[in-house]
Amino acid sequence: MGTFRLEVLTPEKRFFEGDVEMVIVRSVDGDLGILRGHMPMVAPIGIGSLRILTGGQWREAFISGGFMEVKPESTLILSDAVEWPEEIDIKRAEAARERALERLRQKRSREEYIRSQVALARALNRLKIARKYRE
Ligand code: ATP
Repeated sequence: MGTFRLEVLTPEKRFFEGDVEMVIVRSVDGDLGILRGHMPMVAPIGIGSLRILTGGQWREAFISGGFMEVKPESTLILSDAVEWPEEIDIKRAEAARERALERLRQKRSREEYIRSQVALARALNRLKIARKYRE
């Protein structure tokens, strides 16, 4: 399988840089699979998982928001937040989930409701990915 260059950046760090066989990333319209030779495109990133096949091994991370720029021989992901399962603070995600649920119960403005739903999606996806790789 051919490889291509993948770079994943957040405002805080260079999360990943290397040659990979495949990437599956949650876009706003569902999962997008990228192989070498993909046509050029730009796509917004949703909330969910980023899966990277490198050296024959899949690794999975949590990803939230941003954009990806795909070219035939390289892909650049600029995201608000990306974390490996072992980097996810479960207690913090549980606290974020409870705060979001409480705000949803309070039925505030429509904007606040949508913001809380998005915060809840971040917390639930962090918990799902963190727990998948821990006993
Ligand atoms: P919180 O309300 O706990 O800040 P959040 O969903 O609002 O959660 P984000 O805006 O997605 O947080 O992320 C802000 C920064 O904090 C990012 O750098 C992100 O990687 C980090 N972060 C947020 N939650 C966690 C967590 N549970 N474990 C590890 N890092 C986290």
